[in-house]
Amino acid sequence: MAALDLRRFSFKQLMEIDGCTRCGECITWCPTFAEKQELDAITPLRKIEALQKLIRQQYGLRARLFGPRPLDETLLSSHASGTYDCTLCGRCGWVCPVHIDTRSLWIAMRQQLVDMERHPEPMNTLRQTVTSAYNISGDANSERLIWSQNLPTIPEGVKGKAQAEVVYFVGCVSSFYPQSYSIPQSFVEILDKAGVDFLTLGAAEQCCGFPLIIAGMGDSARELVQHNVEAVRRAGARTLVASCPSCYHTWHSNYPRLIGEALGFQVLHSTEFVRDLIAEGRLRLGSFDQPVTYHDPCDLGRTSGIYDAPREVIRAIPGIEFTEMKDTRQYSLCCGGGGDVEMADKELSARVARRRLEQAQATGARVILSACQQCVRTLAGAARSAKARLRVMDVVELVARVIEG
Ligand code: SF4
Ligand code: SF4
Repeated sequence: MAALDLRRFSFKQLMEIDGCTRCGECITWCPTFAEKQELDAITPLRKIEALQKLIRQQYGLRARLFGPRPLDETLLSSHASGTYDCTLCGRCGWVCPVHIDTRSLWIAMRQQLVDMERHPEPMNTLRQTVTSAYNISGDANSERLIWSQNLPTIPEGVKGKAQAEVVYFVGCVSSFYPQSYSIPQSFVEILDKAGVDFLTLGAAEQCCGFPLIIAGMGDSARELVQHNVEAVRRAGARTLVASCPSCYHTWHSNYPRLIGEALGFQVLHSTEFVRDLIAEGRLRLGSFDQPVTYHDPCDLGRTSGIYDAPREVIRAIPGIEFTEMKDTRQYSLCCGGGGDVEMADKELSARVARRRLEQAQATGARVILSACQQCVRTLAGAARSAKARLRVMDVVELVARVIEG
């Protein structure tokens, strides 16, 4: 009999499950429900209600008096699809009047569903790929620097230095998906021009574990985490910088908890690092005269609280015309690319991206900037399907384009 293990939830989460007021505010803000209204189980409120019912069936008063009832299979299966048809954008948590940390709750629910073997089958493939190939694409991990092959000059830090002040953690998507190569190419060009003592880990870099953690399979990520921390410590770095917001968040917020101690070096996102280089006068920027807008990546904004650094970098570019979208900062709409949704429901991911693209088009921008390879990839896909005359770029790609000297 499938059984819930309440130890997967913290005391705070159990209080939150109980404390939902059923006001429904979160439903209005949920981007996946906006696109899939036929699936009621997808809403944040219904996910919590389903869990309340399942918990009652096993641990309620009646269950204590007469023994637990078998879990309602129909409810369990709609709860499972609702829990994975979620981009983990965290918008529902931001608007929740009783401050339920929904994103963490959804991840705990996924862990529970994995324990009960009620997770979508593609997640098993993901786990198998990441734990055997050490990256999400399944390519040979020794090819991690393939993105650097057509750089006009390969910086020393990419050729294979043993030690440096800064480690640039490239991340799986930028390392292996050709559409994203120009992000690490641009970022190492910036580091090189600013004279930063940096290195990339090459084959010694392994997936940060984020895709497994958010799939509810965090237990399978522990070896990757330990390996990566040791690799950065061996490099003697004082700073780790990631251009991927999900890698950044995982290193910054999950790693110290997972290894049970402080990392011993600071963790920054690429936009924070570039902002500091500009402030120190280490980069000279030329002008850019096309109207732009900026899309907040969920894992950089709502999840990590970094809203200003990318905007400061954009505004530092002379002549730039920057207009915010309708939903921005904490209220930013998801690009549709988060939460492993693409793996569970590709069409849903594309529909959410289309909605965000329309908001960008309404600003009159010719360029959508973001600070995440996944957002750039998802929004660029939406722009291609809609035949929209818009370019989608990461902030570091724009900086590399206007950098002088
Ligand atoms: S995290 Fe985002 S997609 Fe998931 S339920 Fe909340 S608002 Fe909806
Ligand atoms: S906004 Fe918060 S309290 Fe209201 S229904 Fe959603 S989760 Fe429950």
